[in-house]
Amino acid sequence: MSTPTDQQFLDDFATMSTFGATAGGGVDRQAGTAADGEQRRWLAGLLEARGFTVRYDRIGNQWGLLDLVPGAPYVVVGSHMDSQPTAGRYDGAYGVLAAAHAAFRLAEEWRTSEDAAPALNLAVVNWFNEEGSRFKPSMMGSSVYTGKMTAEAALAVTDLQGVSVAEALAALGCVDDWDGPEAASCAEIHIEQGRSMERDGVQIGLVHSNWAVNKYEFVVRGEQSHTGSTAIEDRRDALLGASMLVLLAREIADAFPGQVHTSVGQMEIYPNSPVVVASRVRLLLDLRSADEAVLAKADAMLHERIAAIPAAASVELDVHTGHSWPVTPYQPEGVELAAKVAADLGLEYKPVMTLAGHDSTNMKDLVPTVMLFVPSVDGISHNELEFTKDEDVLAGLAVLTEVVRRLAKGELARDTVAAEAAAAH
Ligand SMILES: [Zn+2]
Repeated sequence: MSTPTDQQFLDDFATMSTFGATAGGGVDRQAGTAADGEQRRWLAGLLEARGFTVRYDRIGNQWGLLDLVPGAPYVVVGSHMDSQPTAGRYDGAYGVLAAAHAAFRLAEEWRTSEDAAPALNLAVVNWFNEEGSRFKPSMMGSSVYTGKMTAEAALAVTDLQGVSVAEALAALGCVDDWDGPEAASCAEIHIEQGRSMERDGVQIGLVHSNWAVNKYEFVVRGEQSHTGSTAIEDRRDALLGASMLVLLAREIADAFPGQVHTSVGQMEIYPNSPVVVASRVRLLLDLRSADEAVLAKADAMLHERIAAIPAAASVELDVHTGHSWPVTPYQPEGVELAAKVAADLGLEYKPVMTLAGHDSTNMKDLVPTVMLFVPSVDGISHNELEFTKDEDVLAGLAVLTEVVRRLAKGELARDTVAAEAAAAH
């Protein structure tokens, strides 16, 4: 087989975008759905045709393994192919396909040239349920792989229809009694989902850390009554209380201009009927900041201000804190390695923070991890209009290929970094 060209990458990208395609030019491929399964089968075919062994682990992460060094651990490279509802074609999926093509290019090179032999094995990964739209929390597959969540807890999670992760994965035949391969290092490439790179005219973003996030679940409890006949002063309207939370989230963001991002992304209203005052609303709110001290202030403001809502709306309010993570750095050695690669390739690059969570956010806590971004036109993401130019997509593929080549030689591998840190003391 010959080395796949840039054009073959673009052709495969076009084919990939047909799975779960929406009329608006995007995709709807939520985790564990039929469209997710079709796409996984297609990716398996692509990997197997190039001599990779495809396996699933116990939480449905899809692995394409290239074993060249018996007993050695793996460079793990990939992202996620699941999507939000009516989402764009690039988020996650670009990173998995770029990982596969980078691996195909290297595999071909290693087959034909003896002195290029790698020191580590290579694993392309399609993480399960990064988006967390159908099953919460997000980044589920990488959380289980990195030991932050048990497989049992993840498999028991149900969607709004009561279907569990275990049932969805079994229906697709995408689960196995296996923990996944042992990682030595990791790389992921993703679209920026913001507009800073486009604004600065750079093609490659080197992610050095992530924004801190606090996610909250609120349950507002009122009382069901008639929207017409119940006197206003007698109403205990759960949706009124929930609406106050939606506005409060924006007021908090406005109190820290440019420093805090907040939103309510999901609300479940019961009974959600035209002539019934809602008795119960469950809603999810998140606060994000690049500065943990600012996030702590925003969190304090949230708790102080919600205290007024029960009296103002005659409701009861339960607060549960869900998933949260601090500002954490990616290994600086990885940022340096990627900077060298981008410079060698003559590409404009800059260090960036990620505002969104990624599977690499989990992986970097386990092994040295390189996270790369390519620009998003107008910063549009989680939207059917999400777009990245072909030239940027291909520049990212070139950088990822070179980064993985160096990782596969053993640069940055977990043991190497540990040895260097020990030597420095
Ligand atoms: Zn993503």
